[in-house]
Amino acid sequence: MSALLELKGVTRRFGGLVAVNGLSLSVQAGEVVGLLGPNGSGKTTAMNLVSGALPCNGGEIVFDGRRISGLASHQIARLGVARTFQLVRVLGGMSCLENVEAGLAFRPQGLHGRAARERAQQLLERVGLGTQAVLPAGELTYIDQKRLELARALALAPRLLLLDEWLAGLNPTELQQGIALIRSLSADGLTLLLVEHVMDAVHALCTRCVVMNAGTKIADGPTREVLSDPQVIRAYLGE
Ligand code: ADP
Repeated sequence: MSALLELKGVTRRFGGLVAVNGLSLSVQAGEVVGLLGPNGSGKTTAMNLVSGALPCNGGEIVFDGRRISGLASHQIARLGVARTFQLVRVLGGMSCLENVEAGLAFRPQGLHGRAARERAQQLLERVGLGTQAVLPAGELTYIDQKRLELARALALAPRLLLLDEWLAGLNPTELQQGIALIRSLSADGLTLLLVEHVMDAVHALCTRCVVMNAGTKIADGPTREVLSDPQVIRAYLGE
């Protein structure tokens, strides 16, 4: 089986610092893979390399059999890789509908006008924001802004979704709702790569985890095995 996403020896430096050091990993279609590691281990940089927000200094990234390293972020998005950001980036002055419509216009066969509005409404319903469609995004609660960001990412009709700490900062009830939502996206066939610190969520969602430490991969395997690996535990405890 060929991987949907493959990183082959990917490296990214910032000056003298090697933030991602020869990282290789693969994500099969339909998987939910957790990208874990202590702060500063290179997770967000790795996500930025996949989405094209940053260029690689070495190695290559292949999505669906096609080399995407070297492409611009909008080209990668159009091939089917969507992402959310660690800091929510919705457009506060625009309504929820308008936020999602902006995402729809960006698709390869951009949707506009009434078709866009209908699709945007469907996407808002998909993430649980159906009744807030006309509210300005800036008036939404934190979790609802996160839902909106997800709807905007889904507007691209992605095959791979990159989630960067999407569940961070939620209270326990919201966390369960967030986990259920992500699980339902996976059940719909979306492939997910997520950076996540909330271990309950990692256990609930990820079939497999890749762990980084200081830019290097130190573990890759089934979630339970990886999280009980002494080397992983040591990395998290900072020993
Ligand atoms: P994580 O997401 O695991 O917390 P990051 O990928 O954010 O780690 O950071 C990895 C390392 O790269 C850190 O040492 C961080 O300070 C550094 N880094 C990240 N982005 C930049 C940047 N734009 N310029 C310089 N250093 C950066």
